[in-house]
Amino acid sequence: MPNLDVLLIHPPVAKPGEPPAGLAQLKSALKTAQVSCEIIDANLEGLYSLIHSVTQAEHRRTRMALRNREKNIAALHSLETVQNFDNYKRSVLEINHLLGEAGNPYQTLITFTDYKQKEFVPVRSHDLIRAAEQPERNPFFKYFSSLLPRIEKLAPQVIGISLIYLSQAITSFALIGQLCRAFPHTKLVLGGGLITSWMSRPDWKNPFVGLVDEVIPGRGEKKLTALFHKAQKNNFHVPDYHNVEWDHYFSPGRVIPYATSYGCYWRSCTFCPECAEQNRFDPVPHDQVFDNLNTLAAHKPALFHFLDNALSPSLLKKIARRDMPAPWYGYARFTPELEDPDFCYALRQSGCVLLQLGLESGDQHVLDKMQKGIQLEAVSRILHHLKKAGIATFIYLLFGTPYETIAEARRTKQFVLDHADCINYINPALFNMPVFSDESERLSTRPFYEGDLSLYHSFDHPKGWHRDRVRHFLSDEFTSHSVIRKILNANPPLFTSNHAPFFTDFYKSVR
Ligand code: SF4
Repeated sequence: MPNLDVLLIHPPVAKPGEPPAGLAQLKSALKTAQVSCEIIDANLEGLYSLIHSVTQAEHRRTRMALRNREKNIAALHSLETVQNFDNYKRSVLEINHLLGEAGNPYQTLITFTDYKQKEFVPVRSHDLIRAAEQPERNPFFKYFSSLLPRIEKLAPQVIGISLIYLSQAITSFALIGQLCRAFPHTKLVLGGGLITSWMSRPDWKNPFVGLVDEVIPGRGEKKLTALFHKAQKNNFHVPDYHNVEWDHYFSPGRVIPYATSYGCYWRSCTFCPECAEQNRFDPVPHDQVFDNLNTLAAHKPALFHFLDNALSPSLLKKIARRDMPAPWYGYARFTPELEDPDFCYALRQSGCVLLQLGLESGDQHVLDKMQKGIQLEAVSRILHHLKKAGIATFIYLLFGTPYETIAEARRTKQFVLDHADCINYINPALFNMPVFSDESERLSTRPFYEGDLSLYHSFDHPKGWHRDRVRHFLSDEFTSHSVIRKILNANPPLFTSNHAPFFTDFYKSVR
């Protein structure tokens, strides 16, 4: 007799700084509908297993990483570590080095955030199927094998694999291969953000028939509940983080991820997959947001991580009137509310320690063409107000869009230099054209590499500002500038925005 209805698995590799929020949400929804559910964070467990699998050291660097292994792991679980950025950085990089060593025999590059295996392209369905057929070629094979007796004991009727990031694709399918062999009669379903994006391609045709029983787009709770002939009455649930091994996550403090909405309320930026995929905006009712946060506060978070693409101004206004149960950070847009210094101060008082803000360009014409809906004069005012209020800023920049040339890119650089004292972190990225976006249809495009599941195209830049020229600009002019380099060097390696809030003044003063 089966004991469990649904087992949800979060496969490697994804940043292991916090538990997987989507699965916690799903578990809660299923339990409310009387469908029993458990979660295995195979990402966290698998990474630990690889870190501890390295025993031999040929090189001095590996010997040192092995010697410091437990000390470094302990350091990444302690708020003490944020007092000394260099020590923190060394701990992250030494543990990450061990992941690299564990991947080497498999010709696989493994980091805390990435997974690249020679001969397996994660956007080629043929390669994903091959990964399932040859799971022993995967560095996580031994760890996945150790999972099988546990799964057998749970005896789930359905196993759900959540595939969110491309760095999880090859390992997800290697795991699926092992599950198919060990449990041929158990229903296997595949869902998650990446599956949703793949399924939004107009030419989508399920290539995984025969390997998994169902692929489920979107949030999945209705479909999964229906498998048990039950129905979902409520759309939004407080994520279920019971049984989470909080202190195992690689984070200086306990971080609770929480989404106050799905999709994006703005949904206008021309370069954004949210628009290309036409995802619906679905906000959690505000009263429920605050109730849920109060409930989640019982887990004693050091930080709430809001997962929204952009916190809506209406919610921010309500947050600003409250004393939130824990410090928090998340994405917001440069909206008029933030032009009021008192509003920024109120946000800080509510517990906001850092805002992630998509500036993309320091050129107004480019911003207008992107339909960002922001004015540079306003951005300038907002950055100063946030600085004054004590809220750190993580600014996202996008180079190489079809509207940009080197002249506009240089204006972006100048904007950053002019506001360097108000910018704590920057993330300069190279533009990728979403396939099936309106822009993509207007330009001459090519796939980055052969892959039927690719979500981005390479394109002929209409003004000749091609990727190699953009890359040169970034290395020769942008990142090499001493002021910009200093900002970039402050970025926590690999964990970036996930750990950045811990290096704000607020946490530096907490011991
Ligand atoms: S605000 Fe962000 S998520 Fe929303 S459309 Fe623009 S880029 Fe996309």
